[in-house]
Amino acid sequence: MKQPHTASNNYNSDLNHFYQEVIVDHYKNPRFKGAIGSCCFCQEGKNPLCGDTVSIYCKMETASSGVVLQIHFDGHGCSISQASASIMCELVHNKTVEEIKQAIECAELVYTGKHLNDQDDTQSDLDALSGISKFPARIKCAALPWKTLECLINENFGSNGEPISRSCEKHLNVLKQGKKIKVVSTEE
Ligand code: ZN
Repeated sequence: MKQPHTASNNYNSDLNHFYQEVIVDHYKNPRFKGAIGSCCFCQEGKNPLCGDTVSIYCKMETASSGVVLQIHFDGHGCSISQASASIMCELVHNKTVEEIKQAIECAELVYTGKHLNDQDDTQSDLDALSGISKFPARIKCAALPWKTLECLINENFGSNGEPISRSCEKHLNVLKQGKKIKVVSTEE
């Protein structure tokens, strides 16, 4: 584990520059943006404080490691919320439910400034979110996609990582009929 951040940590200018570059890059060139048209679990999230919205779309695939999830997002709002969603999708792409749960836990430590991503020694785009922790009002922006994904996982998958239902169409039908699905809010 890398050194935890403390209030006395000074970021050198290169690191700050790296963080900014990563956020801007993901905001301008979002990865995995756009709804998945078939076989979706979907979950909507919003951050009323900033006006950010994020929708997470999930498609199950069977891989050698078991069931893995394709995760896409859509949304609008500030650069931090949208970059965080793009960084998240890149990180959890084609991962198992268990791996995604671990990534969600790890990310929370990063964007709340508790420690840098320690999944490997190389600097990851996720580390860019650690810069956000210096601005408490913006943590909810960074947290929004992760909280939304966490809700999607908890609502649709059992503790064993198996989907509670494979009839994903019901979620699509709910959306088509315009019925309200539970919306995650980072304000709560
Ligand atoms: Zn925001």
